[in-house]
Amino acid sequence: MDIFLDHIAIAVKNLEESVKNFETLGLKFSDEREVVESQKVKTAFAPLDTHAHLELLEPTSEESTIAKFIEKKGEGIHHFCLRVKDVKKTQAELEAKGMKLIYDEPFIGAGNCLVNFIHPKSMNGCLVEISQKLED
Ligand code: ZN
Repeated sequence: MDIFLDHIAIAVKNLEESVKNFETLGLKFSDEREVVESQKVKTAFAPLDTHAHLELLEPTSEESTIAKFIEKKGEGIHHFCLRVKDVKKTQAELEAKGMKLIYDEPFIGAGNCLVNFIHPKSMNGCLVEISQKLED
């Protein structure tokens, strides 16, 4: 398949408490915590299946879009992410079809991935991330 589910991201107020909470389901989170400066979030990942992960996102600043999301809607599912082969190419194809992307250019997200987001207005109200794994 050219496209598959990479992760589902949940906005949380307290990362470590949320890790413990989701581990009650039997999920095992990596000990690594990555701060994505551009998004002002701290992340924790747990594998769900062969490709997909659960990602917990805690804002590191009140300016973070995740902080604003929690303020407006409370904690909960923030976006899901599809892994694609080439983010720039996918973005160009989507834009050619009239879809709106949040950022003009893809940027480096968590886990050394090149990412962008499709605007919820173009995706039935869902914030959808597209992501391409860069070579480490
Ligand atoms: Zn994501």
